[in-house]
Amino acid sequence: MGRIRPLDQELVSLISAGEVIEGPFSVVKELIENALDAGATMIDVAIEEGGIKKISVSDNGHGILREDCAICLERHSTSKIRSREDIEAIGTYGFRGEALASMAAVAEMRIISRAKEEDIGTEVISRPGARPTIREASRPVGSTVEVMDLFARMPARRKHLAGPKVEAQRVIDVVMRHAAVRNDVGFRLVRDGEVVLECPRGQRSEDRLLYLWGSQISRALVRVDHSRMGVRVTGFVVRPPYSRGNRSREYFSVLKRPIEDQRLSRAVENGYSTLLMRGRYPACLIDIEVDLRDVDVNVHPTKREVRMSNMDTVLRVVEEAVRRALSQDRPPDVSADLDEYLTTVRDGSHETRVAAFPPTRQPNVTTAHPRLTEEVPLAGPSPRGPPAEPAVVDELGGTFRIVGQIHNLYILLEFEDALVIIDQHAAHERVMYERLRKEVNEGHVSVQELLEPMVVQMGPDEMHNLLSLSDMLRAVGFDIGPFGDREIVIRAVPEILGRHARPEDLTALVDELVEVGSRTPTEHFMDEIVKVTACHSAIRAGRPLNEREIRGLLEEMAETPNRYNCPHGRPTMIRISSAELERRFKRTT
Ligand code: ADP
Ligand code: MG
Repeated sequence: MGRIRPLDQELVSLISAGEVIEGPFSVVKELIENALDAGATMIDVAIEEGGIKKISVSDNGHGILREDCAICLERHSTSKIRSREDIEAIGTYGFRGEALASMAAVAEMRIISRAKEEDIGTEVISRPGARPTIREASRPVGSTVEVMDLFARMPARRKHLAGPKVEAQRVIDVVMRHAAVRNDVGFRLVRDGEVVLECPRGQRSEDRLLYLWGSQISRALVRVDHSRMGVRVTGFVVRPPYSRGNRSREYFSVLKRPIEDQRLSRAVENGYSTLLMRGRYPACLIDIEVDLRDVDVNVHPTKREVRMSNMDTVLRVVEEAVRRALSQDRPPDVSADLDEYLTTVRDGSHETRVAAFPPTRQPNVTTAHPRLTEEVPLAGPSPRGPPAEPAVVDELGGTFRIVGQIHNLYILLEFEDALVIIDQHAAHERVMYERLRKEVNEGHVSVQELLEPMVVQMGPDEMHNLLSLSDMLRAVGFDIGPFGDREIVIRAVPEILGRHARPEDLTALVDELVEVGSRTPTEHFMDEIVKVTACHSAIRAGRPLNEREIRGLLEEMAETPNRYNCPHGRPTMIRISSAELERRFKRTT
């Protein structure tokens, strides 16, 4: 007898379930898509313990007919395609008829639905490996699908789930991405009995985004709408300097189906070109409209990837759309200020108003120059001031002279046998990091109470993230708590930040803490929080330093371990030996 034989049906279902259902977030995604396919205008999602214990999605769509209830849980059963031609142009989110069947293979399910054609609803209860039971139930038109104890009988799969916190985060992300593109539909998300997100149907797209992303970006939204070569790109990009440390705010959809695609990310980032610093990512909501026949959603079982036959064109048009939107854009606050300024000038009240107008920051060439040439303070044995600690530069060797600062960023030191260039931000970042790290380890962080507690708006995902970090944040010296359901209040910060804690800086800091929470494994949280805080406490690149400040920095460095690298591993200083200079100037051969 041969060795090859067909798999039995139950095994086939389990294998395909493995492809479709990665975790609670994929269940939620499939159920939302079914609700949207059913024409729902309100979708209610509830999860318990990150969705591992229970997921429930209710909609007011057209419902499922009684006679369909029996087969909707079977593999490859769908109401959405009938023929080969249908596959060529699919307008619905689902069509493979696999989602419900896959869920039924790996979890207990309950469906209660009433079709609009029927007076009484139906309840289906299904357990993996058993025949579903079906009976009458009452319900308004629409469907509720519940999925309980995901992977309960599959310890190997269950082990691959992250904890409830991370799984909840993934669910929130899925709901947010759908809610962002389908602003016509109302969404509600409840986690362990608490409302995380609630947006009404028929919201304007920008209002939906403001709700989801918080009002800090509200003044920074730039509308995108550009068509060419049969591709239409619509949505919003967020004007720099708003940017993120990861791609969590890059939302893409094709024909309003959320997708992720690195190539699209790169196209948008190219559109921003030099407006973004390296390692920073934009925020955008981009929907791509193409002819249905150019789209093949059948590549990936979860349809997260979409193949488009004209992908090169699409990428080009996306990049163009972003570039045009940003180049035509005038930040409203600047023009508003300017208008105000001009009006007051016309009013004759010029003098009183002009002070409010921010001075333009021009590099002052005449004062910057002498510092490099004359009156060079000697940091070695010097008539003025105490000699710099030789310890600062013990490994570098000997005494030195502070030549000055260039580009408001680099400090130049002349040694007998070398030129040393210090990156002021990187160096100070290491100093701050080591100081805070030590305080945290010893369990007594110096804390600075804010004179006025600061309130920061949050997206639901961010709120969730940050609050779950609050114990660790407290250990580092932050006092951060919820303030209503969409805001947090900061009452105290680590002292090293205190001096520099301007609201806009704190907002940026909170932004980064949130990101840390979403991308770092738990055991590294603490160190990451310390790093982020150190970075925000450190002297900025771009800040002019006077001689006294430079000296102060060098003294601090002298006492700091690991001073040759910043906490991210970049060098804090570069040494160019005199020998190398001679070689490069061809003084020696
Ligand atoms: P697909 O969406 O690919 O057709 P699913 O397994 O997700 O496959 O769903 C199977 C069928 O069950 C769908 O084709 C649809 O007819 C029906 N169905 C599922 N969810 C809903 C819902 N929320 N409202 C109405 N019908 C639904
Ligand atoms: Mg489906």
